[in-house]
Amino acid sequence: MQRINGTMIASYYACKRELWYMAHQITPDQDNPFLDLGRLVEEESYQEEKKKFLIGDVLIDIVRSEEGKLIVGEIKKSSRSKRSGIMQLYFYLWYLKERGVKARGEVLFPREKRKIPLVLNRAIEEELKRAMREIELIIAQEVPPRREKIPLCTPCAFRDFCFA
Ligand code: SF4
Repeated sequence: MQRINGTMIASYYACKRELWYMAHQITPDQDNPFLDLGRLVEEESYQEEKKKFLIGDVLIDIVRSEEGKLIVGEIKKSSRSKRSGIMQLYFYLWYLKERGVKARGEVLFPREKRKIPLVLNRAIEEELKRAMREIELIIAQEVPPRREKIPLCTPCAFRDFCFA
């Protein structure tokens, strides 16, 4: 069984079919311009901050301290994927807490000059545990979940796999 990571959590909340593709090492279309845009936003934003921290199994975009408190950040190119970004970052906060590290989070949308602060709570932890159980069931399936036309299909790099 694969270990659940932040990308899987984000995919689960964005599209369960995308989650299955990624867990089965199906490579998305690397020429998709939205992938390039996402990389560019991540590379060009918050250059003054330290970026990309591998902590155990998770790769966190930004880690900084503020008044003695640890803040971890996740950069997203657009708030179209707001919910998945929020749950991905909650997963990182939970992951750190499980290892004795207390932190707060910020989901960052540099193109929109916007950030969403996050503090982990018991209800979110329960939701994450429920999601992780369902993720295990989804990736154990032999075929992907049914496709559904959703707004995220437009920029999705897996679009040709679903709608060609
Ligand atoms: S094209 Fe749509 S259904 Fe297919 S993986 Fe992407 S978001 Fe999911």
